[in-house]
Formats: sequence, C-alpha cells, structure tokens
Amino acid sequence: MLPVIALVGRPNVGKSTLFNQLTRSRDALVADLPGLTRDRKYGEGVSGDHRFIVIDTGGISGDEAGIDAAMAGQSLAAIEEADRVLLLVDGRAGLAAGDEQLVRELRRRGKPFDLVVNKVDGLDPEVAASDFYRLGIEDCYRIAASHGRGVRALIESVLVSFPPADAAPEAEEDRVRVAVVGRPNVGKSTLVNRLLGEERVVVFDQPGTTRDSVFIDFERDGAPYMLIDTAGVRRRKNVRETVEKFSIVKTLQAIDKANVVVLLMDGSEGLVDQDLHLLGHCIEAGRALVLAVNKWDGLEPEQRERMKSELERRLRFVDYAETYFISALHGSGVGLLFGAIDAAYEAATRPLSTNRLTRILQDALAEHPPPMVAGRRSKLRYAHAGGRNPPVIVIHGSGTDNIPASYRRYLEKTFARALSLSGTPVRVELRSGD
Ligand code: GDP
Ligand code: GDP
Repeated sequence: MLPVIALVGRPNVGKSTLFNQLTRSRDALVADLPGLTRDRKYGEGVSGDHRFIVIDTGGISGDEAGIDAAMAGQSLAAIEEADRVLLLVDGRAGLAAGDEQLVRELRRRGKPFDLVVNKVDGLDPEVAASDFYRLGIEDCYRIAASHGRGVRALIESVLVSFPPADAAPEAEEDRVRVAVVGRPNVGKSTLVNRLLGEERVVVFDQPGTTRDSVFIDFERDGAPYMLIDTAGVRRRKNVRETVEKFSIVKTLQAIDKANVVVLLMDGSEGLVDQDLHLLGHCIEAGRALVLAVNKWDGLEPEQRERMKSELERRLRFVDYAETYFISALHGSGVGLLFGAIDAAYEAATRPLSTNRLTRILQDALAEHPPPMVAGRRSKLRYAHAGGRNPPVIVIHGSGTDNIPASYRRYLEKTFARALSLSGTPVRVELRSGD
C-alpha cells in the first residue's frame, strides 16, 4: 500500500506550494491540462524508490470559528486516512493561535504528526523555529517550500519508515487485476455484482478499515481475474456493515494495485469534474484503462447524444481508452467489458522488440523530425522496451533535453498507432549520452 501523507495547517502557510513540489506531475498530459489539475487535493509523489499519496487538506483554518465544524469535512477524513500528518506553520508569521488549536486537535485525535516550519528562506532557521517551541514539540523540519529547500530531506525522512513501493504490479499467476472505480453512486456496486454474476467467487477479506479495498478472485470462461472492489460490495454483504463512504485514498490505492482500471461514469448525470480528476489519477498511474458510461438504460436519445459529444470533446486526450455504454442494472453491454479488459491488459504487457521499436522510431523521425533548438537538432538513434503496464519505450540519442514535451507526445502517439496499442497509455523516455 502506498503511504498516505496529509498536509495540515492554517491558510497561507504554504500547504499547496508544498503539495505542488511533492506531486509535480510525472505525466506531461496531466500537467498540461489545467482542467485536470485545478483544485486537486490528492496527488501522487515519487521519491527515490518510494511512491506515496499526498493530501492537501486545504479546508482547515484553525480559526476560532469552530474548528470542529471545519475538521468534520473532507479534511478530517483525510487526516483519518493518512499514515503521517505534516503540520505546516509559517516561519515568517510566527506562532499563531490557529497553530496551537490544530496541535490540540491532532493530539486529541491521537494522530501522530510532524511539525514543519515553512518559509525559512532569508531567515535564520534556528530563530524561525524557536517561536514554535511553545507548541511543546521536540523537533521540527525547516523548509522553504516555494524554493524547494529542505523538501527532499523532509520527504525522504518521512518515507524512511515505509517499505519501498513495488514497480507496476505484475499480475499474479496471470491473474489480471481489475479495479472498478468511479465517484459515488455511478453504479460501482451494481457493476461489481454483475461482473461477478454466478461465477465461482472466492473472497479473501482484509482486516478492514475504510481505506482498504476488498480483493476478490474469480474466474470467467476459465480465465482468472482479481477484482479490486472499492465499493465494498462483498464486505457489506458479509459483515452487514453500513454502506461505506467513498474514499479517494481507497480509489488511488486500488488504481495503484490494478493492471486494468474500469472507470465508471454516470450517463444520466453527464461528465463531471470528479470524473476528470479520477481520470487524471488513472493517467498518472499509467494503468490500462477502460471507460464505461453506466445507466445507459432509460436515457432519452438527446441525452445520449449530449453525453457522447461531451466525451468526445473533453476526453480527446485519452483517445487510447475505449468507451463502453452499459447498464449495470440490466446487464446490457457488461459482457463486452471483459473483452475490453483482456485487450487492454494484453496491449499493456505485450513484449516489444528492439528492432521493431527502432524501425518505428526511424519512420517517425523521417515523417516529422524533432524541432531545432538554438540551431541544433537532437539526435534519436534507437529504441527499446523499458517496462510494461504501462509500456515504456526508452529512446537513446543526444541532446534529448532539448526535445519539447509536445514532440515526446508525438512519438508516444506514433508508437501507440504503429503497434496498435489500444487501452493503455504509452510512455516514451528519452536518454542522452550513450
Ligand atoms: P496554503 O493556503 O497553506 O495552501 O498556502 P499557499 O501554498 O497558497 O502559500 C501561501 C503564500 O505563501 C503564497 O503566496 C506562497 O507563494 C507563499 N509561500 C509558500 N511557501 C513559501 C516559502 O517557502 N517562502 C516564502 N517566502 N513564501 C512562501
Ligand atoms: P456506487 O456508489 O458507485 O457503488 O453505486 P451503486 O451501485 O450503489 O448504485 C447507485 C444507484 O444507481 C443505485 O440506486 C443503483 O440501483 C443505480 N444504478 C446502478 N446501475 C444502474 C444502471 O445501469 N441503470 C440505472 N438506471 N440505475 C443504476
């Protein structure tokens, strides 16, 4: 499981600045699309061999105006779900009443946290920290988030106690791991029950907190799958729990553990921002992806047209993913999902030969050479496979630092087309010097 780190603090102490430093998007696509990143409070970060989830709990003010109310919302849930809490304070402003209140609140909840004094740029770090001794916290980190100073040391030190993340999960014994994700009420539970149908189902339940998904082994036509159920269907049934709350952390963990993600949307409500946010997470994780628009039953023809044109307009950038229109309730279209899942998994894990990749590269270069930068043209020589799920294509050459992201994206699209890699993103990595 990826470690979950929550950033807590009064407004303006620098939480979102630190969040941005920690999560600078790995995927140019996500970084370039303002609609996808705006207002996002959950991000993925990488540090050495570690990957982690970071949450910006923007909502907590710590002001006198009822901290309980403020903490009762998403922010509190985020804190509950976090493995580590970082309490940010402003080294320039010094200790504020809100800081003390937040410390009391965290202590009352028995949540371990670290104190991070931000904005120490231009200050004597010792002096900047001394004001906060009154909080009664032994030790603190001192950083300047907007300059990136101390940020690496901070995150490395926080992550030291967590095991390093695996690379993209290999399917166990060729058991394809499928996660069904989507915002609340799109029909995840209904779909999961449908997918499992009357198949032989073996459930192994984890000791459950809300952030754990349930992993369900099942077979279909003799092929083994593992379903990662974020909706808590089976648990609800077994343990008679109340309906579990939707949790973004759980969703992110499920995406991370999956080979193929089925992102479920609600055709009766159209495409909403939260769908796009979840999509952004899928893209960033590099998982194979199947899009499913649910509740297609009972929609008027105009509604269907509207949804289709909206998808075409706003999801053009994930053209690698196939879209299915289904009714989880009635079962229509659901059978096709398995074919899509299998195809996406096959594309995401297909062996790719150096010869073939290099030939495609040469054609791509002939068709459209990299742009000149400062009178020089980068040289790209050969390509080989560098990873699966998602397929990574490593291209060796010289001057690759000058190659703009748009050209890398052109290469990604060209490889995807030439190899007919549908259902999975393709990542191109450029390397100079050998
Ligand atoms: P949030 O409300 O806690 O998310 O705070 P923001 O990240 O929006 O930062 C509030 C202000 O503090 C912004 O104007 C930032 O540019 C500034 N800021 C953040 N980190 C630093 C820092 O390390 N040094 C200085 N001098 N300013 C910072
Ligand atoms: P979840 O929160 O994503 O797990 O969503 P549920 O599976 O609990 O479904 C939410 C509501 O949508 C329930 O009332 C379902 O009966 C309904 N629903 C689910 N799938 C469909 C569908 O294909 N068509 C229609 N009309 N309703 C559906």
